Amino acid sequence: MLTTAAGAELLVCQFPQALVFEGLTAGLTVASSPMGCLDMAVSKRYAGIIIYFPARKIRARGALIELCADLTTLALTRATPKCVSLDCRHRALFLRLQEAGIENVEIRLPAKVVDPWKMWAGLMAHESSLRIDLHLSRLCPFLRYRPISDQSELVTCGAYSNRMVLGGSRLREVCQAETYLSCEFYMNPRRTQ
Ligand code: SF4
Repeated sequence: MLTTAAGAELLVCQFPQALVFEGLTAGLTVASSPMGCLDMAVSKRYAGIIIYFPARKIRARGALIELCADLTTLALTRATPKCVSLDCRHRALFLRLQEAGIENVEIRLPAKVVDPWKMWAGLMAHESSLRIDLHLSRLCPFLRYRPISDQSELVTCGAYSNRMVLGGSRLREVCQAETYLSCEFYMNPRRTQ
C-alpha cells in the first residue's frame, strides 16, 4: 500500500460538506471548495486527487463536474490519478463524471468518516470496484431522475413512461444491479423517455 511512508501526497477536496478523516492525515492537503481544490492542484504536483462529494446535493453537482473537467484537462493534473467518492450510486451523475474525464468512483457508506489512504491504495491497485464503466454497466439505462427539491429527486422508469416511481428492493436489487437485464420493462419497454 502506498502511504505517507512512501512519501506520497494527496490532494483531498471535500465540498459542500466536510467529512472526518480516519487513519493517517500526514501527507493530505485538504481543500473545502472547488476553487480551493483547483488553486492547490495547480500549485504543485500531487500523487493523487480525491474528491468527496455527497451525491444528493443536486445544486452543487455542476461545480463538481466543472472541477473534474478542469482537473482532467489542466497540464499539471491531467495524468494525476483521480477518484470521486460518492455516497450513493447515481447513473446520471456517473455519466456526467465520465464525460468530464473521471474514470474512477468510490461508493462509500453514508457515514461521515473516511480514509483517503485506503481509497488511494485501491486506486493504485487498479481495483475494478472503482471503475466508473463497470458501475455504469450495472445500472439500468432506463433509470431517470427528477429533482423535487434541492436534495431529493424521484427515480422513475423511462421504459414505463416515467410513470413508475422506483425505490426499495426493486431499485436496489433490479434497477441498480445486473439483474436489470432480465427486467420485464427493460426487455419490453412500453414507451421510452
Ligand atoms: S424497472 Fe426495469 S426497465 Fe425500469 S429502470 Fe428498473 S430495471 Fe430498468
